[in-house]
Amino acid sequence: MSLNYSELAVEGVRSLKPYQPGKPIDELARELGLNEEDIVKLASNENPLGPSPKALDAIRKEFDELTRYPDGAGFELKKTLCEKLGTSPEQLTLGNGSSDILDFIVRVFVNDGDDVVFSEHAFAIYGLVAKMVGANCIVTPAKNYGHDLEAMASAITDRTKIVFVTNPNNPTGTWNSKNELITFLKSVPTHVIVLLDEAYFEYVHEADYPNGIELLNSYPNLVITRTFSKAYGLASLRVGYGISSAELADLMNRVRPPFNVDSFALAAANATLQDEAYVKASIALNDEGMAYLTSEFDRLNLGYISSVGNFVSFKVPDGSDSMKVYADLLGKGVIVRPVANYGMPEYLRVSIGTMAENRLFVAALEAVLFE
Ligand SMILES: *Cc1c(COP(=O)(O)O)cnc(C)c1O
Repeated sequence: MSLNYSELAVEGVRSLKPYQPGKPIDELARELGLNEEDIVKLASNENPLGPSPKALDAIRKEFDELTRYPDGAGFELKKTLCEKLGTSPEQLTLGNGSSDILDFIVRVFVNDGDDVVFSEHAFAIYGLVAKMVGANCIVTPAKNYGHDLEAMASAITDRTKIVFVTNPNNPTGTWNSKNELITFLKSVPTHVIVLLDEAYFEYVHEADYPNGIELLNSYPNLVITRTFSKAYGLASLRVGYGISSAELADLMNRVRPPFNVDSFALAAANATLQDEAYVKASIALNDEGMAYLTSEFDRLNLGYISSVGNFVSFKVPDGSDSMKVYADLLGKGVIVRPVANYGMPEYLRVSIGTMAENRLFVAALEAVLFE
C-alpha cells in the first residue's frame, strides 16, 4: 500500500507554492546551448559590480578555519554593524539572508489561524513564511502599485500578529515617506509587530525616505530587516540581519539555528561594510543605469513604475503577452523576471546591470518588441 504523504503534511505546507527564483545563468546556457559569458542576468536584483575585493580577501583568510564552526554569535560583524548603525549588539539578529529573519519573526509570534497583513504586489516571501505556520494572509489593495498604509492599518484585527511593510517594495520599487510611515506606526496597536523590510535602503536618495532605525525608540513593536544581498554584493553567501528592541531580538535569537550564518559570509559581510568606496560605486552605477533604462523606456514608449530600488518594472505594449516577451528575451540570452505571480501580468521586472548589460538588454528588448 502506498501512502499519500502530502495528505499527512501539515495544512499550511500542502497549499504552499515554492518561491520562484530568477532563472540561473547556467540553466539557460544548458537549455539554449549558449556560453555563460553571452548571457545577461537581470532577474534577481543582484549587484552587477561583482564582490568587493575586501570581501574576497576576508574569505581567503577563512579557508584554513574550514573545519571549525563559525562564530554563532557573529561578534565581529555585529560590532561593525553597531558602529555603523548606532545600535547595540543585543538589538541585532543575524540571518541566513534577511529572509531568515522574516521566518524567525513569524515563528516567534504567529499561531495557526492568526492573521498577517501585507500589501498587494508585496515581496513573495511574507506569504510563504506565514502560510507555513498556518496563518491567514490578509492582502490589502495597492495604491498606484505602492503600499496603501491606511488600508493596511485598517485591515488589523484582534487576530493580527504581524504587518509586513516593504520600503521600498519589490517588485514595484514604490516607497512610503517618513510622514506616511509615522502616521501608520501611530495607528498600529503596540501588540502587533510591524516588520519593516529595508532590503534596498542603501539605494534610496529621496529626502523624506525614512530610516527605520530612527523610529525604533518610539515604536517597540518595530522590527527592521536589511541585507547584504543587494548593495553589498553578497547574495550568494546569504547574510542579512534584523534590528529591533533587545527584547524582540532575544526572542528571534531563540528560534535562530545556532550556526545559520557561515564563516565566509560573516567575514565577507564585515569586510564589505567597511568598504565604503565599494558601496558608493554600487549606488552610483545603479543611479546611472536607472537613468539610462528609464530614458530608454520613454524612447520606446513603454510604461514603467517609477522605482527607487535597483530594479524597475516595465509594461509590455498593449496586446503583447509578457510571458512571450520574457521567453523571447531568454532566446536572446537576456534573463529578466516575470511578475505575473505578483499580480502584475502586464509587467516584467529588470534589475539594473552594468552599463554594458543595460545596453544589451535594451537592444534585445527593442528587437523582440519592434522587429
Ligand atoms: C532581495 C530582497 C530581500 C533580501 O533577501 P535575502 O534573503 O537577504 O537575500 C528581502 N526583501 C526584499 C523585498 C527583497 O527584494
